[in-house]
Amino acid sequence: MTDTASRTWRNWGGNQRCAPVEIARPRTVEDLVEVVKSGATDGLRVKAVGSGHSFTDVACTHGVQVRLDEYARLLCYDPDASTVTVEAGMTLAALAGDLARRGLALANLGDIGYQTVAGAISTGTHGTGVGLGGLATDVVGLQLITADGSIVSCTPDEEPEIFAAARVGLGALGIISTVTLRCQPAFNLRAVEEPIRLDEVLASIDDLVDGNDHFEFFWVPHTGWALTKRNNRTDEPVSPGRGWRFLRDKVLFENVAFGAVTRLGRLRPQWTPRLARIAPGSGRTEYVDRSDRVFTTPRWVRFCEMEYAIPRAAAVGVVERVRRYVEESGLYVGFPVEVRFAAGDDIPLSTASGRQSCYVAVHMPQAVPYEQYFRGVEAIMDGVRGRPHWGKLHYQTAATLSSRYPGWERFQAVRDRLDPEGLFSNAYTDRVLGPPLSA
Ligand SMILES: Cc1cc2nc3c(=O)[nH]c(=O)nc-3n(C[C@H](O)[C@H](O)[C@H](O)COP(=O)(O)OP(=O)(O)OC[C@H]3O[C@@H](n4cnc5c(N)ncnc54)[C@H](O)[C@@H]3O)c2cc1C
Repeated sequence: MTDTASRTWRNWGGNQRCAPVEIARPRTVEDLVEVVKSGATDGLRVKAVGSGHSFTDVACTHGVQVRLDEYARLLCYDPDASTVTVEAGMTLAALAGDLARRGLALANLGDIGYQTVAGAISTGTHGTGVGLGGLATDVVGLQLITADGSIVSCTPDEEPEIFAAARVGLGALGIISTVTLRCQPAFNLRAVEEPIRLDEVLASIDDLVDGNDHFEFFWVPHTGWALTKRNNRTDEPVSPGRGWRFLRDKVLFENVAFGAVTRLGRLRPQWTPRLARIAPGSGRTEYVDRSDRVFTTPRWVRFCEMEYAIPRAAAVGVVERVRRYVEESGLYVGFPVEVRFAAGDDIPLSTASGRQSCYVAVHMPQAVPYEQYFRGVEAIMDGVRGRPHWGKLHYQTAATLSSRYPGWERFQAVRDRLDPEGLFSNAYTDRVLGPPLSA
């Protein structure tokens, strides 16, 4: 279960690495308790890692790295409560597939399914849809291994403060062993994807956001175009030609062709504006498919990303400022700026805590310097009290973040109670949450 050889771990984006002194691969909850207890005895910090799809160093450790790929099963489905309980390391894609076979689905997903359930909720992973919260809002129960090796079960009624905090816990409260999620009958979505002028999208943003179950758009920098996606629930069956359409749109266009354009842009950055004009030529597509297949897409082109949650009412002004910034900065930006929406929630460290939110994400291809771009965009987000996605790059600290979350103190009280010594801390939590109580 434990491997003591030191080895380097890298995240998906390739921008974070660490060298844990031990790697643990627990298979049971007893193994997990043992890993936590022996880490504490040996004076090592302990950190669970999911699929490594965070761009920040949130999952990095130089102590014990807990990999949960062998602790990844669906444990039970409760038809009366319409909930499913899974081991923390199960991926969203595996869960969605398993649910579909039972005629079930999650209400919403982000744009990939590679993340683990625990990793996704711990950073506040979300999709788009103004009536829907992030994945953590569908969590109805959790089991957590805390610093003293206790197994703590929490729900809205049992240990409610721990439950509230641990749904988006940045891995800082303990190791999540199981997660119970609300699910619902499987459903199909009608997807309509089409380029529309950005000015038109911004002029009718409320109609687009409120008039669709899931609306998002991607502004293509150096052009006046946005690629829009509208997904709405339907009783219609899956459209014929699914395999071919998937190959054409999601594999050939979004990965192979986009990858080639990105490589060209990396070699000749000054060509980026001209290359960008190719994207809106993709035309309109419309189809019906199973919800998880509409939400998620394979991602072969590697990149680094920053994403901010801002009050929904600030969306238009912020997108216009980001557009002006890109145009005036002289930067060549080869990746679309993604804009999504979500309902507010009551989770202390959720980026949508207490307010309906718009998410604005900026990207740079892997190995292309991003700091100037991201810092420029971050300054715009600071102006509207933006909250950074915990798994995506940003330059904030506990001092700049604490006043942006109504539940900040509530979270810190739970952290102080459960992990005063900082067994589950790392450099990232020290920066964004502050050092542990006893440091
Ligand atoms: C291509 C790509 C697309 C993305 N799309 C979206 C999107 O659409 N929407 C969105 O919101 N985000 C998106 N993200 C970000 C991603 O969802 C988050 O960063 C998520 O946390 C990654 O999950 P993971 O399983 O890889 O976790 P990791 O990145 O490995 O870990 C994330 C955090 O979870 C903690 N953790 C993991 N397992 C446990 C456990 N058992 N107990 C306690 N803590 C644990 C880790 O310690 C760490 O703090 C995307 C990222 C990429 C690379």
